[in-house]
Amino acid sequence: AREALRESRHLPATTLDGHTVEIAANVANAAQAASAIEAGAEGVGLMRTEFLFLERDSAPGEEEQYRVYREMAETMAGRTLIIRTLDIGGDKQVPYLNLPHEENPFLGVRGARLLLTRQDLLYTQLRALYRAAAHGPIKIMFPMVTHIAEIEALREHCERAREQVGGPKLAIGIMVEVPAVAVMADRFAPLVDFFSVGTNDLTQYTLAVDRQHPELAAQADSLHPAVLGLIANTVAAAKKYGTWVGVCGGLAGDPLGARILTGLGVDELSMSAQDVAAVKAELRKTSFAEIQALARRALAARNADEVRSL
Ligand code: PEP
Ligand code: MG
Repeated sequence: AREALRESRHLPATTLDGHTVEIAANVANAAQAASAIEAGAEGVGLMRTEFLFLERDSAPGEEEQYRVYREMAETMAGRTLIIRTLDIGGDKQVPYLNLPHEENPFLGVRGARLLLTRQDLLYTQLRALYRAAAHGPIKIMFPMVTHIAEIEALREHCERAREQVGGPKLAIGIMVEVPAVAVMADRFAPLVDFFSVGTNDLTQYTLAVDRQHPELAAQADSLHPAVLGLIANTVAAAKKYGTWVGVCGGLAGDPLGARILTGLGVDELSMSAQDVAAVKAELRKTSFAEIQALARRALAARNADEVRSL
């Protein structure tokens, strides 16, 4: 079975009745991107840039970041590459930034909120991204966006950074990982070029369960119908405005999760490279009509266990 998976890993995830969903990988650097492609990924749906900032004494400058993003763009050779801006705060702390202590860091100055208050970090990263985009297509994604005003401000900052360094206009998208954005997706969709649903944080914020809590983490179950309902609302809004919508949280790499998400109509699933071949094979042996019905039943379920038993 493992040999069959290996042999079929470069085939697209096309259902028996001809519906195709893009399969991408979550990576942190160019070496991982290269092995993800080798493992069957068609693009990178999430490059986390936190690693660039961790375990060092000062923030990486524009030149260093430019080299990293350029290498990524070259490695992808024209395939989709979504690079997420710094998502520090929450569980990930960086001592040299001297950020104030917070009682509830997951509800604190995290992701895009930090970049909007620390525009030195924002501009260094945006300038590096626009410069790197001369070497291959890059899409910019902002994490933890909550308010309309944030994406409006971020778009303006992107344009200013682009004017400073030159380079092409880039697609600008947001993570859908705060419930407010999923609920108001119809108002965010016209303002962005794409959505990517972060099911890990969307689940923790929807169910009010710390995703790392020693006793409660198991309850942070992304198959919960409340979470699926928010994703369905996001997809409906995206379709209405022709906005591309992917999923880059853990649910995308789960065989049942991938079927339900595809049934809900997402355009892309981005996951760990190790899950790519199995998810593609799973989707190839099902029909879109069947998983659309599965998704409808999941939305009507009473809890995550009921979804799992469908
Ligand atoms: C998510 O929240 O689902 C996500 C993909 O982002 P991260 O896990 O990096 O918070
Ligand atoms: Mg997240």
